[in-house]
Amino acid sequence: MTDKYDVIVVGAGPGGYVAAIRCAQLGLKTACVEEWINKQQKPALGGTCLNVGCIPSKALLESSERYEEIAKHNADHGITVDGLQIDVSKMIARKDKIVSQLTGGIEQLFKANGITWLQGRGRLLAGKQVEVTAHDGTVSTAAADNVIIAVGSTPIELPIAKWLDTRIVDSAGALDWETIPGKLGVIGAGVIGLEMGSVWRRLGSEVVVIEAMDDFLGAADRDVAKSAQMQFKKQGLDIRLSSKVAKVDVGDNGVTVTYNDPKGEQTLVVDRLIVAVGRKSNTAGAFADDSGVQLDDRGRVVVDGHLQTAVPGVYAIGDCIVGPMLAHKASEEGVLVAEQIAGQKPHINYDAIPWVIYTHPEIAWVGKTEAELKAAGVAYNTGSFPFAANGRAKAMDQADGLVKVLADAKTDRILGVHFVGPLASELVGQAVIAIETECSSEDLARMTFAHPTVSEAIHEAMLAVDGRALHAV
Ligand code: FAD
Repeated sequence: MTDKYDVIVVGAGPGGYVAAIRCAQLGLKTACVEEWINKQQKPALGGTCLNVGCIPSKALLESSERYEEIAKHNADHGITVDGLQIDVSKMIARKDKIVSQLTGGIEQLFKANGITWLQGRGRLLAGKQVEVTAHDGTVSTAAADNVIIAVGSTPIELPIAKWLDTRIVDSAGALDWETIPGKLGVIGAGVIGLEMGSVWRRLGSEVVVIEAMDDFLGAADRDVAKSAQMQFKKQGLDIRLSSKVAKVDVGDNGVTVTYNDPKGEQTLVVDRLIVAVGRKSNTAGAFADDSGVQLDDRGRVVVDGHLQTAVPGVYAIGDCIVGPMLAHKASEEGVLVAEQIAGQKPHINYDAIPWVIYTHPEIAWVGKTEAELKAAGVAYNTGSFPFAANGRAKAMDQADGLVKVLADAKTDRILGVHFVGPLASELVGQAVIAIETECSSEDLARMTFAHPTVSEAIHEAMLAVDGRALHAV
């Protein structure tokens, strides 16, 4: 007999598991199909984000940052340490423990909310039926009034640089090295390449990042990208722009990357290589031919403004549809679809979704960049404030970087806020609230920010829109 649910969610990443929890909270009989097998060879919930993405990368960024702090940045404080060492296996074990705790936590949440976990691979059939192939090969079918596709994404493998044991790896492989590479190459200076490159550079690797694009961090505001690039250079992160990889060879002396830059053909020999050139939607094999769901030319599920596919009652969310590949975007879409199914009228403001890069310095922004406003012909005013003039940032030894605000020239409404510097990942939350509540720069300029805090840089940037920052030279 076919089991029947109100909702079946396919995929239990931050899109799918959140959608399932919200559906269950709303009283819907919910099942979630998830096929993930973790490092310990056990079925696991949480998807890319919890198992091999956001969480483990932040765990290693934290460990490596602590190591570098002690190794390089404590002498001015009068703190010196002899015989500093890092036990990489222990660092990886700590990361694995955090992952297990969090993925186990999702399992608890599923139990508490009465969500059925169908372990195995799901495939959408016609008529809102989902075929589930369990890990032992058993095939069963479940049906639902509504199906939410949340199959996420996987790393793109380059045909010229196929994954090879621990030498040529994707981001997941770079989260599991038990030794520090002497020389590390990274193809791709995007968020993942920069974060993973930072982890291993801090621990002592010589890191070269090869990037095909001419602009560093093309999606970020130019002032922010310029400041970050300068700081990465100072740290010794060697970022080579306008460099297109032509060939990757593996030999006894390591991995040889041949690339072309404006000066001609170059070669780089490294011990290990991370390929971080982007991710693709994980939709291959997820749909029967007659499922009715349509994919675009990049394999993403085509949805309408309500995130519904061409099949009424079948929705798709997260990395497998158009839009930024971000965990919080996936989760918000999961909530939206669940609430729509329950008859509510939810809304997502895609202009208020924050972006964060957890390097040192952190980079974060929400809303429009100057380039986007120029392209759209929107008149704007800017205000910016350097952390060099912020007392708390100075005390923290993190006074590089800036806050920059863009406000509508006519209405003064805040259209974008950009950060590079200390605690940018946390500060951006204040900017999200400001944009979401349609604040003007004057609104924030007239609020009181605690002293001394790095948040005061936001206040000063808002004052600067009108040329009245108090601590700017
Ligand atoms: P996923 O998390 O990819 O989950 C999809 C799930 O579906 C998986 O568990 C998969 O096993 C399952 N699945 C797929 N097909 C099937 C099927 N047919 N049947 C059953 N199950 C299936 N984002 C941030 O916002 N912040 C960060 O700091 C951040 N850091 C990252 C660091 C790294 C190294 C990486 C790789 C990514 C990072 N991301 C970050 C991106 C983030 O992980 C993704 O945007 C997010 O996981 C997308 O969620 P999702 O639910 O759409 O898909």
